[in-house]
Amino acid sequence: MVISSPLAIHGGAAEIPEGPPSWPLKDDDVRQALERTVSDGSWGRYHGPHIERLEQLLAQMHRVPYSLACCSGTVAVELALRGLKIGAGDEVLLAGYDFGGNFRCIESVGAFPVLVDIDPHTWCMTTERIEDAMSMTTRAIVVSHLHGGSADMRKLCALASQRGVRVVEDACQVPGAIVQGRPAGTWGDVGVLSFGGSKLLTAGRGGALVTPHEDVFQRIKIFCERGNHAFPLSELQAAVLAPQASKLGARNSTRQVRVRQLLSACTQVQALSPVALPADGDQASYYKVAWRFEPDLCGGWSRAQFVEALQAEGVAIDIGFRGFLRRSGRRCRKPDQMEHAQKAADQTVLLHHPVLLEGAETINRVAQAIAKVVDFAESGGGLCELER
Ligand SMILES: *Cc1c(COP(=O)(O)O)cnc(C)c1O
Repeated sequence: MVISSPLAIHGGAAEIPEGPPSWPLKDDDVRQALERTVSDGSWGRYHGPHIERLEQLLAQMHRVPYSLACCSGTVAVELALRGLKIGAGDEVLLAGYDFGGNFRCIESVGAFPVLVDIDPHTWCMTTERIEDAMSMTTRAIVVSHLHGGSADMRKLCALASQRGVRVVEDACQVPGAIVQGRPAGTWGDVGVLSFGGSKLLTAGRGGALVTPHEDVFQRIKIFCERGNHAFPLSELQAAVLAPQASKLGARNSTRQVRVRQLLSACTQVQALSPVALPADGDQASYYKVAWRFEPDLCGGWSRAQFVEALQAEGVAIDIGFRGFLRRSGRRCRKPDQMEHAQKAADQTVLLHHPVLLEGAETINRVAQAIAKVVDFAESGGGLCELER
């Protein structure tokens, strides 16, 4: 489908920074870390100092005794389930709107996903539906903090522990966030991180687990050990993460300031309902910023048209996850309609994080681009070309 871009009609894109995607940032400390791995030879070793140091750093950051680096966030979710002895015959609760890999991780340990609706303001699993979704065979909950929102972990963990259900807390999108006073990833029995190429801490690929439980940690290590670590992060990858970790707090604070600025500049835009800001004293971590897009308040434009028009303005915006509600009932249990998860799958638009470190002026231009596209759509633009 080709739509007419508003930029072609109104002239002049909003001039949001050009060039290749600005992530990861150019960073001299990362370059020096890489050079050190070359001069000390650790770049080519199985066992060097970097993995150990990274694991210590992650444990410290999360105030837990145990941490394990591994090859991806996706594998980390699977390892977490294995560490908690989740397997065949077990049900695992998962939000109806979440990262696609998490559904597959539950399947890959032989367990059965049960879908739970999300909170429309946080994009994360709601605690309102958890008790109804549980059955005699529910053994775990996989809960993700998504798109700048965070789950109500205090309530979720209380509900889980009443029923002897374990919790895997997916913090892949929110490294360094503070959720209800605690580091994201430390509410659950196991916390999961990703170091994928677009993520806030990146090694191109990679992931990690953090846990307070020695037995869970040992079980994961034993599962990984097949004469050698079967799902390793490399020394080279570990080396580039430490310098980024030391800057994470300051960058998260900057991103949070920019998101507040952006959302207040967009309060008049009825077509977009943003993700909730963090509670007082908490710290959000923005990998993406989510809005729910209302076609009816945007001249009847589809979400795809809206996203395409904003991309033409130079804004790195895209649609959200597909969610799991269309999955067959043979692959998962769906205790209710999951209205909000369905809406999230159909209506979410996501702003990618790099722009949040580019300064107040750029944020104003993003807000202007959004207003421009919505005004154009509301004035009837684009639709006549489409209907032909
Ligand atoms: C990115 C992501 C993952 C998986 O991480 P990879 O390292 O890409 O495998 C898992 N969960 C969520 C919510 C993510 O955003």
